Amino acid sequence: MNNIKIIFFSGAGLSAESGIPTFRSENGVWENYDIDTVCNFRTWESNVETIHRFYNQMRCRLPEFEPNEAHKAIARVQKQFGKNQVLVITQNVDDLLERAGCEGVLHVHGEITKMRCLDCGYTWDIGYQPYDGTSCPKCHEKKVKPDIIFFYEKAPMYDVLMKYLNHINKNTTVIVIGTSGSVVPIDYMLEEIDAKMILNNMEVSADIDEQKYEHIFYEKATSALPKIEFILLRRYAYYDDSICV
Ligand code: NAD
Ligand code: ZN
Repeated sequence: MNNIKIIFFSGAGLSAESGIPTFRSENGVWENYDIDTVCNFRTWESNVETIHRFYNQMRCRLPEFEPNEAHKAIARVQKQFGKNQVLVITQNVDDLLERAGCEGVLHVHGEITKMRCLDCGYTWDIGYQPYDGTSCPKCHEKKVKPDIIFFYEKAPMYDVLMKYLNHINKNTTVIVIGTSGSVVPIDYMLEEIDAKMILNNMEVSADIDEQKYEHIFYEKATSALPKIEFILLRRYAYYDDSICV
């Protein structure tokens, strides 16, 4: 944990160019569904059929979407520096970072390819298959939900995220990509932390404090990532002889 030099923290914008829209975009997979119906833990049991229909549709369609150049650049950086030095954290529930070659990705909001039993907590992989209503393979209860953190639901991975963030120091670079900061207040979480910060979004966000960032790229992730990759190589080349710029 102490070796980590680089942390990528991404949100929906990272996968936007692969064709998976952000919640706020006006078309695409979310358009026929109300986010409050399909992503609200307080009401999920009364919307259970719609929820399974929606996430089944998303899960079955996932293979149609391909990792884009930004996912691939993150995987490239992780390979170059080594997975012990590069931590990939995402709010995304898709598997595009893994399919680009990233390892050990921390999905703070869960993964669409998994189901979770709310009775015993068991989670299991169902790949790209629709959930067919079967009970939990472990306790045989039927309170089964996609393994995705809904609004108002406890997010156990936030504790893991905080553990990693607490190990950041001035030699760490944190790259924030494709997130408005409104769901996870990443700036607030990093308030006390003395790392170098790089931001890539399409536009200014009320929940992101520009003052914290040394470099800001308001452009598509696929065009910003190669520039960020270059900054990282330049910053760390001095520390590691095997990396040449
Ligand atoms: P958000 O919708 O609040 O913000 C998206 C951000 O991405 C914006 O700041 C926007 O400027 C930026 N953006 C859009 N297109 C971009 C591009 N091509 N390149 C770079 N930046 C781009 O997203 P959020 O902060 O991630 O919060 C939404 C929640 O919904 C999160 O939990 C998220 O994971 C989830 N979600 C996930 C997916 C997915 O898994 N692919 C898709 C939609 C929403
Ligand atoms: Zn169970």
